[in-house]
Amino acid sequence: MAMAPALNPAAVDTFAAQLRGELVRPIDPSYDEARTIYNAMIDKRPEMIVRCANVADVISAVTFARENNLPLAIRGGGHNVAGLAMVDDGLVIDLSRMKGIRVDTERRTARVEAGCTWGDVDHATHPFGLATPTGIISTTGVAGLTLGGGFGHLSRHYGLSCDNLISADIVTADGKFRTVNEERDPDLFWAIRGGGGNFGVVTTFEFQLHPVSTVLGGPIFYPIEMAEEALRFYLEYIRQAPDEMSAFYSFHLGPPAPFIPEHLHWVPMVAIVACYSGPLEKGEEVVKPLREFGPPALDLLAPIPYPTLNSLFDAIYAPGLHHYWKADYVPKLTDEAIVIHAEYGPKIASLQSTMHLYPLSGAIQRVGKNETAFNYRDMEFVHNIVAIDADPSKMPQHMAWMNAYWEALHPHSAAGGYVNFMMEGEGQERVRSTYRDNYDRLVEIKTEYDPTNLFSVNQNIKPAK
Ligand SMILES: Cc1cc2nc3c(=O)[nH]c(=O)nc-3n(C[C@H](O)[C@H](O)[C@H](O)COP(=O)(O)OP(=O)(O)OC[C@H]3O[C@@H](n4cnc5c(N)ncnc54)[C@H](O)[C@@H]3O)c2cc1C
Repeated sequence: MAMAPALNPAAVDTFAAQLRGELVRPIDPSYDEARTIYNAMIDKRPEMIVRCANVADVISAVTFARENNLPLAIRGGGHNVAGLAMVDDGLVIDLSRMKGIRVDTERRTARVEAGCTWGDVDHATHPFGLATPTGIISTTGVAGLTLGGGFGHLSRHYGLSCDNLISADIVTADGKFRTVNEERDPDLFWAIRGGGGNFGVVTTFEFQLHPVSTVLGGPIFYPIEMAEEALRFYLEYIRQAPDEMSAFYSFHLGPPAPFIPEHLHWVPMVAIVACYSGPLEKGEEVVKPLREFGPPALDLLAPIPYPTLNSLFDAIYAPGLHHYWKADYVPKLTDEAIVIHAEYGPKIASLQSTMHLYPLSGAIQRVGKNETAFNYRDMEFVHNIVAIDADPSKMPQHMAWMNAYWEALHPHSAAGGYVNFMMEGEGQERVRSTYRDNYDRLVEIKTEYDPTNLFSVNQNIKPAK
C-alpha cells in the first residue's frame, strides 16, 4: 500500500475500525472516484479520504490528522475550483455523505448537515414555501459557499448565506465539538461567517428561512451589439431596483437547448438573469423595464418555483469540465470599466465561459463590515470571469481571454478578492487585503483555535507565531 512513511499501518487500521463511514486509500477501487471533484483540472492524490458518516467520524479524523501531522483538507460540496477540497499526500475529511436536513416551520429555520448541496436545501424547504439565500447553481456545496460568504438569487433581498447563519456545530483543531452562535463562542461564530474553512470542520449549519416559493425569474437575452448600452441600462436599473430584485449581468453563448431558437445557438449574447422574490402581483411592474429594453433577443423571465430557477443552469455547468476563474470586487462600476466589458465580453468562445457581474447591494450592505468576517460590504459588484471547457486543449485560448479581460478591469477593482472565487496561489497579500480591517481579529481567533494551522488548505489566514 502506498502510505506516507510516518504512518503506522496498525494505527491506520485502528483508525479505520473506529469509523462508521468509510476510509478510502489509494489501493481501494473507489479511490479515483472519491478523489474526483468538480473541476477536472484538479488531480490531487490524498493518502486517505475519510467519508464521514457522522460527527464522531469527523472528530476521529481531525484527531488522526493532527496526531500524525497529515496535511488536512475538508470536502463539502467539492465545488471549489481551486481544488481546496483535496490535498496531495494528506487526509481528506469528506462530508458528502452527511446530508441530513431538518426544517422547523415554526421558527422558520433549517438545520443542514455539511454534505448538503443547495439543491438538497431547496428540496427540503420548498414544500413549506421557504428558502434561504443560495448560490446560483444547485449543485454547489452549502459548506464552502456559506463559510466564504455566499451570494446568489436572493441576496439583495435577504443577505449573504452567512448572514442567515444562526448557529453552527464545529469540530475545532483540538478535536472539541462546539455549537457556536451569537452567545456561545461568539468570536468563532463571527470568524466562520466569511473566514472560510480556517477555523474547524463545520458539521451542521442552522439557517434562517424566508417565505420564498414561486419567484419571477430567469434570463432575458439581448443582442451582443448592445453590450455597452445594455450594461449602462442594467447599472441604472439595479441601482434603483427594490431589494426584492436580485439580477446579475452576464455574457453567454446561446445554449443549443430546445427552448432556445436555433438562430441563437452558439451566438454570443448579453443575459440579465433576474430573480424577483417579492409579491408576484408587484413583480410584473418591477421587471417591465427589462422586458422593454432592447428589444430582447429572447425573454425567458417567468413565474418559476425557486428550486427550478436555482437549478436552471446545472446541466450547462455539469461536473467534470475544466475551470479557471479570476474575480474582483468592484467599488463602483466606472465608465471605463463598462467600455472594457463591452470590448472583452463578446469574445467568449465556449458554452460555459462567461463573465458574471453580481450586485452586492440591498440587504448585504445593511450588515456592517465588522459585524461578520466578510468585509467587502461597501462594494457595488463582484465580477467573475471564468474560462471553462470540456476539452483541456482549448483552455489556453480561454485563459488568455480571461487573463486579458481581468487585467484590463483590475485597475478599476478593489485589492482583495472573494475567497470563494480565488484560485490557489493568488498570494497571502490578496487574502489579507480581502479581510481589510477584519484581518487582525481573524489572526487572533485563528491563533486561539488553530495555533498550528491544521486547517491550512483554504485561502489561509495564518496564526501568529
Ligand atoms: C458552478 C459554480 C457556481 C458557483 N456559484 C456561486 C454563487 O452563486 N455564489 C457564491 O457565493 N459562490 C459560488 N460558487 C463558488 C462557491 O462558493 C465555492 O466554490 C465554494 O468553495 C463551494 O463550496 P463547496 O462546499 O462545494 O466546496 P468544497 O470544494 O467542498 O470546499 C471549499 C472550501 O471550503 C472548505 N470547507 C468545505 N466544507 C467545509 C466544512 N464543512 N467545514 C469547514 N470548511 C469547509 C474547504 O476546506 C475548502 O477550503 C460557485 C462555484 C461553482 C463551481
